[in-house]
Amino acid sequence: MVLYRDEAIVLRTYKLGEADRIVNFYSRGRGKIRAVAKGVRRTKSKFGSLLEPASIVNLQLYEGRNLDIVTQAERTVPLVAARSDLDLYSRLSTVLEIVDQIGIEGESNAALYKLTVGAATELDRTKNGLVVTAFIAKVLKLEGVQPVVDRCVVCGVTEPLVAFALHEGGVLCHSCRRGHQLSEEARLCLVAVFEGRVRHVLDTTPPEVALELQTLSAAIIEQHLERRLKSQDVLHNFK
Ligand SMILES: [Zn+2]
Repeated sequence: MVLYRDEAIVLRTYKLGEADRIVNFYSRGRGKIRAVAKGVRRTKSKFGSLLEPASIVNLQLYEGRNLDIVTQAERTVPLVAARSDLDLYSRLSTVLEIVDQIGIEGESNAALYKLTVGAATELDRTKNGLVVTAFIAKVLKLEGVQPVVDRCVVCGVTEPLVAFALHEGGVLCHSCRRGHQLSEEARLCLVAVFEGRVRHVLDTTPPEVALELQTLSAAIIEQHLERRLKSQDVLHNFK
């Protein structure tokens, strides 16, 4: 049996049998990992509480025939607030669900790992929903499907830009407009995020623009993934 170590973030877990869990990780070295954590649902389990969504852990695993087996887990960064804050939990869940969808087993993507851990840590620290919007923007860029936000995606004029169309993959001018209505403030935030000025956007965006951006970015990533995000339903149900 081959033993290996990796650093990973827990994406989601499923019950298996009486006491075990299947855990989906996104790891630095091997991309997505699906592994069995044995006995973790027993109260005396050494690392049961470490293997919860959004935990960032150092792992030791055995390579299995179908699923690998977790033999050791140590938490590297404590994520505490998420357990008690529903909004934060929903936002973290959105990030983790996206990575669970786009992550590929056995295919390392250090940039995606860094983005995921960065977003989870920043969310835990600030609770700012725009962290999710910035995360989605960076994921789209990484996937090579960054939307056009500085000119009309149909005719190319640079103003006024008033809408965002999912199927066209970008913003639209007044004459070509269709899809979602988009405020100029929200569009400028998207421009800033794609230019890497995330900190500026997090610090200065008013709440109504932040909400507009969160709704739009969720719609864009859902279109990219070709499915609804369950965590977004959680968010909407509790709003
Ligand atoms: Zn146009």
